[in-house]
Amino acid sequence: MTDTAIAPEATEKVTLPDALLFIDGELRGAEGGKTYDIISPWTGEFVGKAADASAADVEAAIAAARKAFDTTDWSTNVAKRVELVTKLRDLFRGAYDRLGDLAVHEAGASRGSVPRAHVGMAMDGWDDYLRVFEGVEWEKDYGNKFGYGYESKRVAVREPVGVVAAITPWNVPLYVNIGKVVAALLAGCTVILKPAPNTPGGGAIFGELAKEAGFPAGVLNVVFGEDPALAGELLTSDPRVDNVSFTGSTAVGKRIMENGAATLKRVFLELGGKSAKIVLDDSPSFAQDILTTMLVYHAGQGCAVQSRLLVPRSRYEEAKAILKAGYEGLGENWGDINDPSHMMGPVISKRQQERVLNYIQIGKDEGATLLHGGNARPDKGGGFFIEPTVFVDVTNDMRIAQEEIFGPVLVVIPYEDDEDAIRIANESAYGLSGGVNGSFDRALNIAKRIRTGSVGVNNGMCISGDIPFGGYKASGIGREWGVDGIEEYTEVKILAWPTGAVQAA
Ligand code: NAD
Repeated sequence: MTDTAIAPEATEKVTLPDALLFIDGELRGAEGGKTYDIISPWTGEFVGKAADASAADVEAAIAAARKAFDTTDWSTNVAKRVELVTKLRDLFRGAYDRLGDLAVHEAGASRGSVPRAHVGMAMDGWDDYLRVFEGVEWEKDYGNKFGYGYESKRVAVREPVGVVAAITPWNVPLYVNIGKVVAALLAGCTVILKPAPNTPGGGAIFGELAKEAGFPAGVLNVVFGEDPALAGELLTSDPRVDNVSFTGSTAVGKRIMENGAATLKRVFLELGGKSAKIVLDDSPSFAQDILTTMLVYHAGQGCAVQSRLLVPRSRYEEAKAILKAGYEGLGENWGDINDPSHMMGPVISKRQQERVLNYIQIGKDEGATLLHGGNARPDKGGGFFIEPTVFVDVTNDMRIAQEEIFGPVLVVIPYEDDEDAIRIANESAYGLSGGVNGSFDRALNIAKRIRTGSVGVNNGMCISGDIPFGGYKASGIGREWGVDGIEEYTEVKILAWPTGAVQAA
């Protein structure tokens, strides 16, 4: 097959370009021309068409990435890598509007949220990677040491790990795709990007623009399909793949570790979260701290969102009143695709909507009090809308406090004192992020005792492209972003040679 678009069965409703695979330098449809429909979260209707990769397509991508790693100078030619990754970044910057459209129509982002994590922050992360790349320690001198009677000089060198399979979710696809693809390419790896079935266009654009930038064939490949597991199962079990870099649910992360064990894959996992924000009774901005926790941005579909709000029992009634007024104040200012001030749209799919509504029912059944929201909102459109929702009178043992809902549902838990707040925050299978707000020294001391990969003190931003991000416990293994994020895609090799000095007998 050549560089041809998928045979169009277009209707006037198509707003996105066809999402094509990119394999061995060729933009193409799937084997046999199979496609599937991309569904808009806003309307529940067809919004574009994507190639539906077969096992043979995935095989071809793995073979191409392996060949490019083993037979080209990609792994050793640092100047070429930086030049092409920079050129690709510039092409992405030029495609800002298209990236925004993809975020809106595929991932269900509201227009107002595009400049944040969906596109703006994602592109800033790309700049950060290029900037911090100079800090990668490619060589480290371990000095000289005597052993077996003679002295050796020892040097550690970093080398790219090889072929990387980057498997990504639908919630902030560009951000996560950049987090993996750019770091792995800069490290000298070749890559197979496998975006989620709901967001193929956000992956396909990597192929299109890499081709335009002039990437050597096989260095970057993109495959996707309707079956969420088909490509991933092949990528995680194939011995030609050296590293699997995965962001997604904890359940699939476990499956990937299991699947990768047979070939001892390097596995890098960014998984779910149930992060706690602790507001202390001495916070000078108590009301503001409570209000900024309203789970609205991208309908709560973020791994690091603070979805458990921990409030001192002494000020619990006050916090409830603040939240009630806050949610009522938000009113209907969400869910309009044309309003750029809206931060919240639909959830990604019918399945996700059902899942979130099921959790809302679980919360009611568990005895939590629904303070606001809780309903599907078909009047907002044919898509998958759920009201901004908050539960109070929640205890940390409830399922709505322990399980990741991944929707616009905040739970508010009272605590007795600082020790109790720390205990509640840490009583979670997850350990991704969190926040503490209050007088600085007290808040900082509490933050140090929270077992998560990041904690913002008084709203300090702990997520940025130039610093590492990742989880403790069931939230993952390894770090993405920053120098650490690039070094995740390297192996350390020790070289040693005799200096000529010998030890007196
Ligand atoms: P998911 O785990 O269902 O899917 C993620 C990716 O894995 C998709 O590309 C999917 O096609 C693929 N996949 C599914 N089954 C597979 C298998 N057996 N083998 C290999 N790959 C397989 O997650 P999702 O529903 O797309 O995304 C939501 C989840 O992602 C949430 O749990 C969220 O917390 C998590 N997430 C985490 C971070 C983070 O950085 N920690 C960031 C974003 C999202």
